Amino acid sequence: MVEKYRHLYVVTEIEQGKLLPVSKEMIGEARRLMDGFNQKYSSKEKVVAIVLGNNIKELSKELIQIGADSVIYCDHPELEEIRNTIYTKVICQIAINKEIGGKIEAEYAENFRRPRYMFFAADSIGRHLSSTVLAGLNSGLASDINQLVIEDIEMSHQQKTGGVKETYEKTLEMYRPDFSGFLWTTILCLDNRNPAFKRDYHPQACSIIPGVFEPLEVDSKRQGQVLEFIPRIHNLDLRVKVISREIIQSEVDFETPRTIVSFGRGIKDDPEKNIKLVEQLAKELKAEIGITLPMSKKPYSISQSLDSKYMIPDRVIGTSGHKTSAMLYIASGVSGAMQHIWGMKDSGFVVAINPDEEAPIKDECDIFIKGRMEDVIPLLIEEIKKQIQIVEA
Ligand SMILES: Cc1cc2nc3c(=O)[nH]c(=O)nc-3n(C[C@H](O)[C@H](O)[C@H](O)COP(=O)(O)OP(=O)(O)OC[C@H]3O[C@@H](n4cnc5c(N)ncnc54)[C@H](O)[C@@H]3O)c2cc1C
Repeated sequence: MVEKYRHLYVVTEIEQGKLLPVSKEMIGEARRLMDGFNQKYSSKEKVVAIVLGNNIKELSKELIQIGADSVIYCDHPELEEIRNTIYTKVICQIAINKEIGGKIEAEYAENFRRPRYMFFAADSIGRHLSSTVLAGLNSGLASDINQLVIEDIEMSHQQKTGGVKETYEKTLEMYRPDFSGFLWTTILCLDNRNPAFKRDYHPQACSIIPGVFEPLEVDSKRQGQVLEFIPRIHNLDLRVKVISREIIQSEVDFETPRTIVSFGRGIKDDPEKNIKLVEQLAKELKAEIGITLPMSKKPYSISQSLDSKYMIPDRVIGTSGHKTSAMLYIASGVSGAMQHIWGMKDSGFVVAINPDEEAPIKDECDIFIKGRMEDVIPLLIEEIKKQIQIVEA
């Protein structure tokens, strides 16, 4: 069979000249997947890293050392700052470029049309970029993925196959946690084989949650291919200018403190008062304050000072935020969805305060205090104060 779609292209991201950790993680997972793929299908498809920027050729070596077979780099002064319009255009040009496809694998040069698979980071840049690139390539996108499998799938579907049983070889099964993280959704991007609506959907693409996959160890002996891509940039693509850029350093510190007190939707009965209770508890313990993801969407009406200090993405613990290995982690009004657990499961000792004994956090903690935070936290503060007095006496 003629193979029109080949390889796994990984769109990497850089910040101040360095690869972001999520880019390394995506290359690691791409390597593991394609090693399995090539073994299973006796194939030689590649992990291809794409890197865009200004003076970034040097990064190609690092990308090869962490698992890429080929690197397509695009060095251009206009690519120094990430701008969605121009980045989308250049990545789409790379994806459909037959010449570059042919250089990656001469044997399939004639037939190559686009990548088989494509990965982006599920961060603020990658989420936007992945959607505009896939719209440009007329294919589908699964967002916020944290598990990937390549399988042959047999299925019959009224729309996709006209009700006939078909085998979809080399299908990327893309998993994401849904319904508050208590269920998994598997997303497939399948060609329409129904003769009435025949149409291909390639690449099969997704954005990948940062921190989920492990990067590979650097192997300085690893060899690979480095290819330069010269983009076609039109003046109209450059209408958005970056006048100045400032990186705002977070004031939230989850590295230094040994204790983290986090709160979730359990504050709902009196958000203002409950956040102040958490604040007091954190003060006694010299702890940093974390939140669950829904808190960062500002679901409650509270005073501006508490809102801007605590209900912010920077404080989120979990797959969409930070990972902590605090010595003591106190989860107050937190149910324990898998995305949150991922961020705190390496903590030394975990205390949960929750009136619901069925809450999943119960399985993740060392001490479960069954009760409302309004009742429990004041008692905890009182006891901590007493203990501090004893220690200091
Ligand atoms: C792609 C994706 C990524 C995500 N990433 C993250 C992430 O990084 N971090 C994250 O946290 N979530 C994340 N989520 C959301 C996650 O799935 C859950 O929806 C979220 O963690 C639940 O937040 P919660 O525990 O605050 O709320 P809920 O699940 O509503 O739980 C509230 C808890 O408070 C308890 N409670 C009620 N009243 C009180 C009281 N008076 N005192 C004490 N407890 C009380 C309840 O019994 C309940 O257990 C993500 C979801 C998706 C789909």
